[in-house]
Amino acid sequence: PDLGSRPADDPRSRAEALRRLIERYDHEYYVLDAPTVPDAEYDRVFVELQALEREHPGLASPDSPTARVGGVVAGGFESVRHSRPMLSLSNAFDDDAVRGFDRRIRELLAEAGVDASGLRYSAELKYDGLAVSLRFERGRLARAATRGDGAVGEDVTANIRTIRAIPLHLHGSVPEVLEVRGEVLMWRADFEALNARQREAGEREFVNPRNAAAGSLRQLDPALTARRPLRFFAYGVGEVAGSEASRLPGTHSGLLDWLAAAGLPVGPERAQARDADDLLAFYRRIGERRAALPYDIDGVVYKVDRRDWHELLGYVARAPRFALAHKFPAEEAVTDLLDIEVQV
Ligand code: NAD
Repeated sequence: PDLGSRPADDPRSRAEALRRLIERYDHEYYVLDAPTVPDAEYDRVFVELQALEREHPGLASPDSPTARVGGVVAGGFESVRHSRPMLSLSNAFDDDAVRGFDRRIRELLAEAGVDASGLRYSAELKYDGLAVSLRFERGRLARAATRGDGAVGEDVTANIRTIRAIPLHLHGSVPEVLEVRGEVLMWRADFEALNARQREAGEREFVNPRNAAAGSLRQLDPALTARRPLRFFAYGVGEVAGSEASRLPGTHSGLLDWLAAAGLPVGPERAQARDADDLLAFYRRIGERRAALPYDIDGVVYKVDRRDWHELLGYVARAPRFALAHKFPAEEAVTDLLDIEVQV
């Protein structure tokens, strides 16, 4: 069904149509690992639905894609209930939204009676892969799960064990339970080589490195995953428990350094920022270097650096309030298939 950008007269039926469209896109992206529209088109539809629900609060519903983390648990995998939910991120598409984010953080901290004059942000890359949670028990990799719908994910432990970048043991004294959250991705050169092999073998080619990574990780046979060149970057933690738990660094940037020292791959492109101007300078600097990076990113992520303020700031339906994803405009290079689909 072509919804184009024609606003329907009736907001309720427009919202329904947008939800059905997003559900179809989610299925193609999260279940089939084969999107038929570029991410920018998905985002456009999503933003329209968000705006509609804001204008007509009666239309909002807990079933709406705007209130949920996209993703599923596929049959064939054991399901894993996350001890702490794996959420999405709120998005910003322009400078104003970044300034609004910084303003809101300061207001919320002031309301909580906190002196925010020392506020710092950690700015990092938004890796375009799929989120996983790695559970280490007494420093040993015990279980790995995909994000799934945020509450329940797929047990992909056997597949994750085949990724050489992921240590099976952590260094140093680490908490008894440590869930590391991060992104599994495929580097562009490896993706091109994989697609060339798929083509020669007469197998399905992948649309982009993100979908190749997701398709490779979610193989029922770990021997297949083992032959796929997957990488990993850690960007946070989930559950942390045990006697060493309180010794984790109090800032997000310190935590990333700590994860790196424990033996986990952490992205090198990071910065600290004091205000929206600093955040926007990071965004522009990375934007200029985006094509030179060996892997795809779809934006940058800003997080309040002090971790004790994260809980204070809290959460909205599907994302934390302490973080923001600032997306880059769509890249031109989309396959012919995608170009055709968009015009249908
Ligand atoms: P998201 O990808 O916009 O943001 C949340 C995710 O960012 C996290 O789950 C994590 O995996 C990832 N991430 C990467 N680097 C991170 C970092 N440094 N810190 C924290 N998290 C980091 O949101 P989403 O809910 O995963 O997916 C929605 C997006 O997926 C859409 O905006 C669209 O781009 C794409 N999508 C596309 C289609 C399609 O049909 N083309 C369909 C569904 C979703």
